Amino acid sequence: MRASRGVLLLVLLGVAGLTALVHSPPGRNRAPEDTALDLFQSEPDIRALLRSLKPGESLRIGEPGAKICTDGADVAVASNTLFVWNGQQLVWGDQALRLPCTLAVSGSDAIPLDGGAWPGEVHLERADANLLVIAFTPLEEYLVGVVQSEMGASFAPAALEAQAIASRSYAATQIANRKSARFDVDTTQLTQVWRGSSNPSLKVRRAVEATSNQVLCHKGKLVEGVFSATCGGTTRSASEAFGGRSIPPLDGVECNHCAAAPFATWSAERSATAVAASLGVSGAISSVGGLEFTPSGRLASAVVHCGSGPVSVSAHALKRALGPEARSTWMTHLRTEGATVYADGRGFGHGVGLCQHGAGSMASRSGWSAAAILAHYYPGAKLARLYRP
Ligand SMILES: [Zn+2]
Repeated sequence: MRASRGVLLLVLLGVAGLTALVHSPPGRNRAPEDTALDLFQSEPDIRALLRSLKPGESLRIGEPGAKICTDGADVAVASNTLFVWNGQQLVWGDQALRLPCTLAVSGSDAIPLDGGAWPGEVHLERADANLLVIAFTPLEEYLVGVVQSEMGASFAPAALEAQAIASRSYAATQIANRKSARFDVDTTQLTQVWRGSSNPSLKVRRAVEATSNQVLCHKGKLVEGVFSATCGGTTRSASEAFGGRSIPPLDGVECNHCAAAPFATWSAERSATAVAASLGVSGAISSVGGLEFTPSGRLASAVVHCGSGPVSVSAHALKRALGPEARSTWMTHLRTEGATVYADGRGFGHGVGLCQHGAGSMASRSGWSAAAILAHYYPGAKLARLYRP
């Protein structure tokens, strides 16, 4: 798909440049000045939305034996306390915390909250009738938790380093683009999965530290380092998946490395009446046809035949209707048999950018470096320094 000589040359140049940066000795592991983006004067905090409480919902803060203090009211309350948000105040017993405030818990570097532990500061602030619980965490510490949650210590070091750089690039893009928003990311796969700081492995921490401050850039601009679990054989362009304009590093490449990964291929089935109900069409679905595909081969839309006649539905709606067994919109076969709709497909996730299981295989089976992995999945991208050290 990308075998032209020009592109190949770019890839090779990218590999050479990235290799030198990723594997330079400790203390010199920084991009040179000519690739310094320096978007921030120092390591930035990322603002991660931990919870958005609706009226009546509760929040458990702290752990047994500790004290909670806030800057808003100088209160110290027994830890492991259940607070209830009533739409105006965060209350326990007959008392309320003054908002907004920053939480501190005695004896903890990370704030214990709802069973997790969140490094940095945790702010509580009101947004209309909801209470926002937002962690302000140094970017590199946040990334340790993200790489642990998104990939984990079972992956080879080079894959973890590639993930760290992709995740840092994604996070930095959100920080740079969401200055007027209340937070930069959440903690789910809508952005990047983050479960706080609970027991990150040394292997993961080393991968983040070895790539500290390094992000992907293209023509002097940050590349949003999006990634997905398993592409299924070809990654896709960002414009195809998300709309808008794409850039060469996010235009999609072939991937011959995830064929043995979980959900490289998958099958899903669901009752025709349940699929119809989810799609909002009347009666059970009798057949599916009229398949339209995107340039990368994913499904774009299909026509379902039901009691009210043929209805065109998007691939995303169909994926949702088929339930969690449908792992992506790359559906290769769709059929109905009796009262059941069956789908076969490839890949897990949106399929843009780094293929995590492909990267894992490149590192563990083929000995690819993080630099080579990134040069493959983000062709034309280079490494750059994100902030002033
Ligand atoms: Zn792949």
